[in-house]
Amino acid sequence: MADAVDFANDHAEYFLQLSLRRLARLPDKPSAQFCEDCDEAIPLARQQSVAGCETCIDCQSLRERRR
Ligand SMILES: [Zn+2]
Repeated sequence: MADAVDFANDHAEYFLQLSLRRLARLPDKPSAQFCEDCDEAIPLARQQSVAGCETCIDCQSLRERRR
C-alpha cells in the first residue's frame, strides 16, 4: 500500500515540475514594441499578454482575416 502512495506522490511531483517548467518557459522571442506591418507602437499590455506578438491589434486581425 505504501508503495502505491509513493508512486502517486512521485507522479504528482512529476506533473507539478512539468507545469512549473512550462510556466517558467520564456517565450520563443520577445514581443515587438512596434507593429511589423504599420510601425504603430504596440500597447505594453498587448506586448505582455501576447508573448511574441509582432503586430498591433488592427494588423493582427487583418492577418487573421487574410489567412
Ligand atoms: Zn499594425
